[in-house]
Amino acid sequence: QELTGLVLEHLREIPDFPEPGVLFRDITPLLADGPAFSRLVEGLADHYRGRVDAVAGLESRGFILAAPLAVALGTGMLTVRKGGKLPGPVIGADYALEYGTARMELRPESVEPGSRVLVIDDVLATGGTAAASISLLEQAGARVDDVCMLLELAALGGRAQLAGRRLASVVVF
Ligand code: IMP
Repeated sequence: QELTGLVLEHLREIPDFPEPGVLFRDITPLLADGPAFSRLVEGLADHYRGRVDAVAGLESRGFILAAPLAVALGTGMLTVRKGGKLPGPVIGADYALEYGTARMELRPESVEPGSRVLVIDDVLATGGTAAASISLLEQAGARVDDVCMLLELAALGGRAQLAGRRLASVVVF
């Protein structure tokens, strides 16, 4: 599909970042290219128009994608944030990282009960971030049938964490 080529052409790969052995995929060249960023948002909006009531971005790069997509769709945008960033009342979910744990939080009052919420982020790796975020949105009353990722690192198995949902990945590695 057209968006796949667009993302691939504007991607940067940085070996050994942020740690030795990790190949970091960087979407900032895509964001910096006005026409490309605009085509990406329009393409995603065409795909989801009429199908969702709100767009939830996962901190931090998910925010960059969720905000213009929500505006293009005419919906609101929800922020699922890392622990300790949102003023209360919040609900939180802890999840395991390779080393240690992480936490995502949501202000449940930001969710309209029964609304169809699209979850978006830049990269799906192990799926821990997305799964924790979805559990919070559902706890708050949302229906999360759709998940959109610019890049899916298939070898890390994140897709299995999203069983039963439609996962649209623009690029799969
Ligand atoms: P997961 O929870 O293991 O699926 O990791 C996904 C989270 O880590 C997302 O919020 C991504 O932004 C971030 N992430 C993981 N790998 C990369 C990468 O190669 N580039 C940019 N972000 C990444």
